[in-house]
Amino acid sequence: MQIADNKVALIHYTLTSVEGEVIDSSEGGEPLAYIHGMGHIVPGLEEELTGKQAGDKVNVEVSPELGYGEINEELIQEVDRSAFDGVDTIEVGMRFMAQTAWGQQPVVVTAVSEETVTVDGNHPLANQTLKFDVEVVEVRDATEEELDHGHAHGLGPQH
Ligand code: ZN
Repeated sequence: MQIADNKVALIHYTLTSVEGEVIDSSEGGEPLAYIHGMGHIVPGLEEELTGKQAGDKVNVEVSPELGYGEINEELIQEVDRSAFDGVDTIEVGMRFMAQTAWGQQPVVVTAVSEETVTVDGNHPLANQTLKFDVEVVEVRDATEEELDHGHAHGLGPQH
């Protein structure tokens, strides 16, 4: 069976930066299960996996446009420290949910001064070229329930 829209694909993957640093990997664990065609994985990888079947290996370099997007400067904001009322210590690297013009957005603190805190709402992998090393483990039809839920249920069809 080939990977196509509404099929569940199980894949082992290793994601590395162009410098060769491993960012994420399913190695040593369960393969990742996802429903194809729903945008659950980055577009550049999804496109490359279309038509592949169990046993196929894919090595693909994904540009930021087809990955997690470019850095959006508008998502980097310097806010008044008073916005963090109730938070005792604010340090670079801390993560918060922030109310932004785009709704609730996870942000990371990138700078702290006496009066202000700089937060960045971009995806941590924005602006990065990503290398995916993928092996297709299994391809199967999605169940009614999976399509209904909008996600794959892993190795078996159950929750
Ligand atoms: Zn479910």
